Amino acid sequence: MEHDITIKQVTTGKTKPDYNHLSFGKYFTDHMFVMDYNEEDGWFDARITPYEPLLMDPSSLMFHYGQSVFEGLKAYTSKKGGIQLFRPEKNFNRMNISSDRMNIPEVDPDFLVDALKKLLHIDRDWVPVEEGQSLYIRPFIIATEPALSVKPASQYKLMIILSPVGSYYAQSDQMSPVSIYVEDEYVRSVRGLVGFTKTAGNYAASLKVQKKAEELGYDQVLWLDAIEKKYIEEVGSMNIFFKINGEIITPALNGSILDGITRDSVIELLRHWGWNVHERRISIDEVKQAHVDGELEEVFGTGTAAVISPVGRLKWKDEELVINGNQTGPVSYDLYDTISGIQTGAKEDVLGWTVPLQEQET
Ligand SMILES: *Cc1c(COP(=O)(O)O)cnc(C)c1O
Repeated sequence: MEHDITIKQVTTGKTKPDYNHLSFGKYFTDHMFVMDYNEEDGWFDARITPYEPLLMDPSSLMFHYGQSVFEGLKAYTSKKGGIQLFRPEKNFNRMNISSDRMNIPEVDPDFLVDALKKLLHIDRDWVPVEEGQSLYIRPFIIATEPALSVKPASQYKLMIILSPVGSYYAQSDQMSPVSIYVEDEYVRSVRGLVGFTKTAGNYAASLKVQKKAEELGYDQVLWLDAIEKKYIEEVGSMNIFFKINGEIITPALNGSILDGITRDSVIELLRHWGWNVHERRISIDEVKQAHVDGELEEVFGTGTAAVISPVGRLKWKDEELVINGNQTGPVSYDLYDTISGIQTGAKEDVLGWTVPLQEQET
């Protein structure tokens, strides 16, 4: 493992976009982190360079067989001053879990947290300061070996790029519930496949259904298990929680859903608050019955982008369940308020989740 990072800084930076009109993942900062892999040297030539297009061989394996993994996390301007990250080691550990399944060589997570901090230090002027805004961080690895045979590549490129993103909700007390379409024909994954990884193909395979949901007037897709089309899995890029008769239920990690860091944080925080949280199988019929019985109190998704996304409407076959009068429920609101407060330093970090960026670094 190469532990020196060479730095090539731009002399004049880009003009920053209007931070009041940032759409997600559209603008990128001045620099990126890059590192290469080959069989002789392992990971080598770690460097921070100007953000620029790549020159790649058209036969690079990633283009043909999709061998790639990615991550997503955020940096925040802390109310206490400085910049901070939220559980970054978890993202790099998870990237190794994804890489293992995709037969991509692993990377030392501590080295990557350190590399990320150096990159953030260089592009620190890009980290938004307004309420709700943040700097989205996208680490990813692609197979770069030029070859057309289906095989694990012998060459890879790891990159980290940064994108300032706007607030998901205009104001935290105005979280707007999303509407969700429960897919009953196509499936996202199955135990034994790659649903627990962040790999490109999972998302490519979901796009047709996402479009169908949008055409039907729904924001996102909820996937059911591939075998019985009965048990709830997760949303496109969010895990899902149900509050039924005072208890919280979320699908257990079964090998086909993603082990979300927001999911984990929500479970820890709810237990810290004294709630009963059950990680178990939950069927769409159970959810429907709870709704009939008047016990389906809240439904919400969890993920880095929105933190908490309350679900107001759930479309399943011919029925539409309206949850909590299509309003954000109190548990969804408290979770959002607390987790986003911890992320931005506005609330005490009771569970030790934030990692500050030391200004003297680099
Ligand atoms: C990224 C992702 C999530 C959420 O994970 P977080 O770590 O909370 O951001 C959930 N499901 C899928 C399919 C994802 O890709």
